[in-house]
Order: sequence, then structure tokens, then C-alpha cells
Amino acid sequence: MAGALVDLHCHLDLYPDPTAAAASCAGSGAYVLSVTTTPKAWRGTLALARGNPRIQTALGFHPQVAHERFRELSLFEAILPETRYVGEIGLDGTPESKPHWREQTRVFERVLQLSERAGGRILTIHSRRAAQEVVDTLARFPGAGKAILHWFTGSKTELERAITAGCWFSVGAPMVSSQRGRAALAAMPRDRVLTETDGPFAMTGDRPLAPAEVARPLEALASTWHCTPLEAQSIIASNLKRLVATEAKVDTLEPYG
Ligand code: MN
Repeated sequence: MAGALVDLHCHLDLYPDPTAAAASCAGSGAYVLSVTTTPKAWRGTLALARGNPRIQTALGFHPQVAHERFRELSLFEAILPETRYVGEIGLDGTPESKPHWREQTRVFERVLQLSERAGGRILTIHSRRAAQEVVDTLARFPGAGKAILHWFTGSKTELERAITAGCWFSVGAPMVSSQRGRAALAAMPRDRVLTETDGPFAMTGDRPLAPAEVARPLEALASTWHCTPLEAQSIIASNLKRLVATEAKVDTLEPYG
């Protein structure tokens, strides 16, 4: 058995037709982590997952909106007990976002502190041009939960540090299309790798990737691991099972089932 497809980072609420995007997940039987970019978006995005326990919804606070949404931190705190998934969170060191670095770090630190106090969460993390800062910050909140670095584009040294720190990685099509990305795959511990789309932001040709459209990362992982794409899919599915099972401190919420 190959196990179901896994998309651990997908913005269902940002597709042109979010209801259709959510319905397509039921059709494929995929496990999808539906991430949000603001606490205000959580309630509506959660409704998209109704009736499909294979879609879980993550409470997010994207670094690129941290400075505009600062006041939503209290809403984040209020919702956090309802979910065991947090994201998209993180830091963004690109020139457009760097002017708001202070607000970004305050939001990221607060979110990690709250997650730690809540007993730990599964975290999907943005680290563009900020991999080292993300790993350093995570180290200060060791109880925040299981950190999954999504669409990792850091250097070899940053990757090694993230691996040593215990981070997981979710790998998507754009990442495996670059030589550097494919080189990174080889260094990632096989038992800490998941697949993602980052749809609708990540594209295939001139259209956004559909939820759970992870054939390309599976092919790249298969080539790295010297196995078939179906075997890679099976490894990813068992990784997800283990990720969810080990985050046991929150026991009142539905796991992936
Ligand atoms: Mn994203």
C-alpha cells in the first residue's frame, strides 16, 4: 500500500474557489494541512474542512502581515486551544519584509511562547532568507512543538543546523525544480520529510498547483531515495502518522484519522 497523498502546507482559503479546492481533497483522499495567514481567517477556513477529517486547519500568523495584524495576537491566543496545528508562521528576511523585522520577530516569538504554554503544537514555518534566525528562535522555545520548515531555501550550513535542531521539512514542486533544492533533499533525514504544494502560491506552468498535487516532489524524493514514487509516497504517509502520533500532549483534539 502506498498510503494516501500528503499536502502539509496548502492555502485552501486563498484559491479562487475555496469550496471547490476543499472538495477536491475529498476526491483524492489526501491528508491536507490547510494553513491560514491571519487569525481572522481561521474560522472561515476551518469551515472548509467540515465533513473531511483528513483536512486539518492550522492557525496562522504570516510574517509578511505581522506588522499590519499585530492586534490579532489576542485572537490567536483565544483560538489556540481549539487546534493542534499552527501555521503559517515564521520570519521573512527578503528586502520587502525586512523593514518590519521587529514586528515579525515579536509575533513569531509570541506565537511560539503561546504554543509552548499550550503544551506544544505542530508548526508549519516560513523561513525565506531567515533560516538561521528561525532555527535560533525555535531553540529558545523548545516546548513549542514539532517544527516543519516549509519550502526550505536556506544554505547547506543552515540546513545542517535545522536538522541538528530536530526540524522536519515539507518539500514541494518549486523546491525540487532547483539544483540546490534537490541537493538539500539528499541531506534531509528520510524520516523527517513530508510533501506540500503551497498552493495556490506555487505554480505548475501557468496555473496554481491543486491541493495535494505532489507528484513532482514525490518523483524527486524517489530519485533521491532510490525507490519508486509510490514507495516515496508510502514513506511520507508513515512519516505523517508518526509526526501526529508523537505530538501527544494535546489529546482532546482529532488527530489525522
Ligand atoms: Mn504558504
